[in-house]
Amino acid sequence: MEPLISIDNLRVIYNQGKSNESRALEETNLRIYPKEYVIIYGPSGCGKSTLLYSIAGLQKPTYGDISINGKAFSKMTRKETLELHQTGIGLIFQAFYLIPSLTILDNVCLPRAFRSQSRSEREKDGIQSLRRFGIVEQADKYPSQLSGGQKQRVAIARALVNKPQIVLADEPVGNLDSESARNVLQILKELNEVDEQTIIMVTHNPEHLAYADRVIHMRDGRVIKEEVNKDKRPVEAKKEEETRPVEETPEMRELSILMSSFKSLLPQQVNMLLVPYKAKQLLNHLLSDLNEEQVSIAETLVREVLFRNIESKTLCERLDLDYDRGGGGWNKTRAEHFTERMDRILEQTESLKAGSPESVSGFADYLVRAFHLRLDEKQSLRLRNILSLRIESKIGQAELKKRLDAPVRQDGVGLHSQTAEKIARDVEIVMLLKYS
Ligand code: ADP
Ligand code: MG
Repeated sequence: MEPLISIDNLRVIYNQGKSNESRALEETNLRIYPKEYVIIYGPSGCGKSTLLYSIAGLQKPTYGDISINGKAFSKMTRKETLELHQTGIGLIFQAFYLIPSLTILDNVCLPRAFRSQSRSEREKDGIQSLRRFGIVEQADKYPSQLSGGQKQRVAIARALVNKPQIVLADEPVGNLDSESARNVLQILKELNEVDEQTIIMVTHNPEHLAYADRVIHMRDGRVIKEEVNKDKRPVEAKKEEETRPVEETPEMRELSILMSSFKSLLPQQVNMLLVPYKAKQLLNHLLSDLNEEQVSIAETLVREVLFRNIESKTLCERLDLDYDRGGGGWNKTRAEHFTERMDRILEQTESLKAGSPESVSGFADYLVRAFHLRLDEKQSLRLRNILSLRIESKIGQAELKKRLDAPVRQDGVGLHSQTAEKIARDVEIVMLLKYS
């Protein structure tokens, strides 16, 4: 039996040769056989997603190559690559990436839209797929009307609508409550056992490991060991697959302890970027009493708000909720204050996006309130004009700051330079959020 996927001497280095170079994947060799369910397991930052996206053909290897069904990515024509993405591989992500303006059925049928097929044929398959995952009643609804678990089932239905041979899932239950998570894991298991699809799932949760036939343990961009629950590989393939666990030195132990308390500390940084990282952490520590995990949970939640998967009210409740109940572990006052501030920024973003004639003066009013500015008529007018220039991208952040700061007689608004700086940052965030 030939391997379905062969990974040979694969290495991935991001930003190679630059000061922010990051060696995400050290030399990796792996064979995955048809009908296997493989889990890639390891702590955050160890290179799991990089490996998965390399297999998906979405991440180009820096060195080495990957073959699917004996055909190397490097030798595939554009047409073959496209075909592989459209029908050979189904991808499932932690953030569901549903399109908010399309119905559930249209979301599921999307991968089909690029193939020559009538709409009714497409929808027939879509409905069948939705039925299978118990969400057919939701067909005409929109993503925002569904729960997280339902959304992930939609995303799975979408990934499977073209019946791919390989299903790749990156932390697919990372955002789900435990019951929805179990349900999704059960679906993946069934796809493997009943439909005989090859599944590769990335997770950092040890509770998931029992679902797989084989677990690939990763650390610091390397495969460090392999665990076999159920061997589906041919006998002769096994010897070459064996991997020895790496001996743990005291330095490695200390690093791994540090890495578990500083989730964003990466082994690559230890060699090159540790000082900037330390500076950032020290600053965070001094400026905020939230720990890294509390910030990171909040970040996930804010992302969900931006994807419109949750409302800001839910964000506020979740931030306030205790850690061990899946919340952010913040306190109520802080959660409310934070949400309120975020809402106001998002409100300005929406209004500027809509581009009504009053939106710029509305934005100016918002800044006046948010930063407690006391402006006379002349200054107000200037503020509005300068904001208009920035919003129309006629000036950049630096120029904006300069003009806010400059005295009135020199055509500025005459603000304190610190206030000018803060406002310029606020404006820049709105500009970023507005950009689509
Ligand atoms: P995991 O999925 O295990 O959390 P990743 O594969 O996402 O790990 O990341 C592995 C390493 O590569 C990390 O150090 C990460 O910061 C870095 N990395 C990932 N993606 C990029 C990128 N696009 N540019 C630069 N560095 C990246
Ligand atoms: Mg990842």
